[in-house]
Amino acid sequence: MSTYSLFSDDTAQQESRASLNLERATYLIIERAGQLVNRLVEDRGHDTPPFLPAEFARLQGIKKIVKEDLGEQSAVLLRFHDGPMIKVNQKHNLARQNFSCAHEIGHTLLSELKLEPCIEDVEFRSFNPQARALARGKARERLCDAAATELLMPELVFRKYLSGFGVSINSIDRLASIFKVSLQTTAIRIAEVSPEPCIALLWQLWGRSKPKGLRFMWRVGPGRKSRGKANYIPVHTLVRYPSKLHRAYEYDSPVKSSKLFKLDTAVKRLPMESKGFGRGDTRRVISLAFLGR
Ligand SMILES: [Zn+2]
Repeated sequence: MSTYSLFSDDTAQQESRASLNLERATYLIIERAGQLVNRLVEDRGHDTPPFLPAEFARLQGIKKIVKEDLGEQSAVLLRFHDGPMIKVNQKHNLARQNFSCAHEIGHTLLSELKLEPCIEDVEFRSFNPQARALARGKARERLCDAAATELLMPELVFRKYLSGFGVSINSIDRLASIFKVSLQTTAIRIAEVSPEPCIALLWQLWGRSKPKGLRFMWRVGPGRKSRGKANYIPVHTLVRYPSKLHRAYEYDSPVKSSKLFKLDTAVKRLPMESKGFGRGDTRRVISLAFLGR
């Protein structure tokens, strides 16, 4: 018997309400972030990226952004009687600092929207109060990430640039440097808003065998809502050496290949473009798989 069947219809109902609420909360916070983008565009008279956190901070009444060594922490929002301030970890690269800072601005939007009741509904399935608190914390952070994404890469502007460059693994570098965000964040955004349905995937060296395999770490897309679903994942999550993916890992040029994906109840081979990014321990392979090609 699966643990799931232990729960009554009532719990299932509450749970679907919770996910509905979270979906609604996500919609609301992205909408609010979009309004802030519109205000900024109006304010400065153009919608040319980048959209920097400092510009939004000013509009949100955040009195200053300070760069400091915060150890393990990315950023922190401090509330004072004369307005909040954000501290960002100066040890992180600028793209990461931008996202962390925009995430903290997301927290100010979250409190303005009074979305706490939506978050309170999260994770009925767990009877463990600690696990529930953890799930709520995670939901809260995901909402702030969604806000940060819209602030730094506003959907309409990002789509315009993406269409100009083409939905391709080669566009990731260019978009990331224009929007001042990380390569992984850019790949995720492409999968979320691309007019052509595609999936972004991340691969990382794995295991003790030499040469090492490349392991599937996460995927996003097609679109925003497929997040967290078991669908659209590669059938084989560990790729052994030698492979086209390893070639992408070893060299800097993009590699074309294809892979089997689980799609609903079927399995389908999708064309894929992959490229290695980063150096040394942080080297990863990012792929885009295309559903309509
Ligand atoms: Zn946070």
